[in-house]
Amino acid sequence: MSRFADFYDRSINDRDAFWAEQAQRIDWHVPPQQICDYSNPPFARWFVGGQTNLCHNAIDRHVAERGDQAALIAVSTETNTERSYSYAELHREVQRMAAALLALGVKKGDRVQIYMPMIAEAAIAMLASVRIGAIHSVVFGGFASGSLATRIDDAQPTVIISADAGSRAGKVVPYKPLLDEAIALASHQPQAVLMVDRGLAPMQLVPGRDHLWADLRAQHLDGQVPCEWVDATHPSYTLYTSGTTGKPKGVQRDTGGYTVALAASLPAIFDAKPGQTFFCTSDIGWVVGHSYIIYAPLIGGMATLMYEGLPVRPDPGIWWSLVEKYKVTHMFSAPTAIRVLKKHDPEYLSKYDLSSLQALWLAGEPLDEPTAAWISGAIQRPIIDNYWQTETGWPILTLCNGVEPQPSRFGSPGKAVFGYNVKLIDGDTGAELLEPMQKGVIAIEGPLPPGCLMTVWRDDQRFVNTYWKSIPGRQIYSTFDWGVRDKDGYYFILGRTDDVINVAGHRLGTREIEESISGHPDIAEVAVVGVADALKGQVALAFAVPRSNAVAGDLAACSAMEKSVCNHVDAQLGAVARPARVYFVASLPKTRSGKLLRRALQAVAEKRDTGDLSTMEDPAALQQVVAAMAAAE
Ligand code: ATP
Ligand code: MG
Repeated sequence: MSRFADFYDRSINDRDAFWAEQAQRIDWHVPPQQICDYSNPPFARWFVGGQTNLCHNAIDRHVAERGDQAALIAVSTETNTERSYSYAELHREVQRMAAALLALGVKKGDRVQIYMPMIAEAAIAMLASVRIGAIHSVVFGGFASGSLATRIDDAQPTVIISADAGSRAGKVVPYKPLLDEAIALASHQPQAVLMVDRGLAPMQLVPGRDHLWADLRAQHLDGQVPCEWVDATHPSYTLYTSGTTGKPKGVQRDTGGYTVALAASLPAIFDAKPGQTFFCTSDIGWVVGHSYIIYAPLIGGMATLMYEGLPVRPDPGIWWSLVEKYKVTHMFSAPTAIRVLKKHDPEYLSKYDLSSLQALWLAGEPLDEPTAAWISGAIQRPIIDNYWQTETGWPILTLCNGVEPQPSRFGSPGKAVFGYNVKLIDGDTGAELLEPMQKGVIAIEGPLPPGCLMTVWRDDQRFVNTYWKSIPGRQIYSTFDWGVRDKDGYYFILGRTDDVINVAGHRLGTREIEESISGHPDIAEVAVVGVADALKGQVALAFAVPRSNAVAGDLAACSAMEKSVCNHVDAQLGAVARPARVYFVASLPKTRSGKLLRRALQAVAEKRDTGDLSTMEDPAALQQVVAAMAAAE
């Protein structure tokens, strides 16, 4: 058996011994008595009886050995600032914030809601919360008051931490008015609001409720707040899914399992070592930001680079100049960001010295082959796809190159990661699919490994009903993604189970058609959805962003390009996959986290209600789609 196969096999078949070993990567105040309690499936409790603290593992335990080493480097191209905190400085700063939270009445188990831009204080707020055993709930800073209000009512925070403003493309986005509006809309009222004043926008403070961080920080300059030891199963945070398929779900994460899972992921998946530098370009509002901007790099004694700004401002070389400057060893981003860069000259990237970079990991959306090939050519470093969900907290599928280097295959995020008993299931019969290249639902046999969601926040029933009851005849976790596995164990994601198209009896993943169209030389980006059709059951519609803006509005050019795209699909996948229509638009509707909102496209195409669009980035994109369809009639 290869090293990788053996490692994976032990994680499943000698589960408790495997995870007992991994648990030694972190500090325990009280060691666990039982590795996994699965007596009440599908609820798994990891490291039962153990007591630890996430902040201790991220900061305190490193201070003696690497107090002067950079821990957090916050770079903003919005305010043109760069601040670096050593482990010792971060330790002090987090205790000041922890002292302030205690002074504001936050107790163990209370929720602290964090609605902040990508500034160092946001990381400090998260770490301070878990330090005192509070549960943080970060809400992406780009959300408006309505989305924030629902999340306030769900989390019921004792304190909300926010800032005067964010900034996007040099434009100040005031947060305080949105926050005040959200609190007015919400039925739950926080006891206190803690405001970081960046000096970007004027703020009206509500007397008795609102406090300035600068004031409280000054009062607690010498604050010494020991870590609160909590049970391994004590919640560390709640976080909402992206809302791509409907109403976002509030994921509840534990403490011990999460810390161990992240600690285990560093050597095995990232081949990462203390003292190296991790640069994850996500936002703290998403799971990738929680795990790989904040917690994992710090648990691993690395420096983490936190970035506020666009990938293309002041120019598309900005991220890569940071890689050179800070000798970044591990970079983590999303295909959607790479597709933005892809519209520019690769020279912007390649002109920097990227030799420190071990690899670039990408997650969040399917990584189409043309995008993977483009970025690989531009930076000349290995590109590693990885597939996971907010629910799981860390990768389900990828290459574990730290265990044993594996060749990557374009279009595949790789193999099942240790701890995840991944199965492909026939969604209709519930039967397990064992033959190579059979299409099925990607499912995970319980117990979910450490680090995955314990439940849906305050809604055990929703946890069971949503995730564990969708496959007939068996209780197994559904990812609601659809894929195939080749004979070597590499998976390929074909799309969401909702996005499977049934054209005259042929089941097709929208992803397959998208992949093909995005390989057309004139297309920058594309979304494919299935819509009801009287004759064929369903047909595929494609919404494509051309590389050149000249096409939009020019009916003859559109029609010629539509033919060309259809011929391209015919040649690659066959006529059955040919889209019934290809519409050309300047941008596609996406969630705030950059995921294609296919369900919104589908609803518009089928003239149905579009449902919950609270996580949509730019409503204008959807209006454009309506206009493009009308123009092409
Ligand atoms: P919601 O669950 O609210 O509908 P969401 O599923 O988009 O939203 P996330 O948890 O942010 O919320 O995203 C996880 C999903 O993203 C996966 O289920 C999968 O569909 C997609 N995804 C993530 N990484 C990859 C990848 N490497 N390749 C293909 N798809 C991916
Ligand atoms: Mg999801």
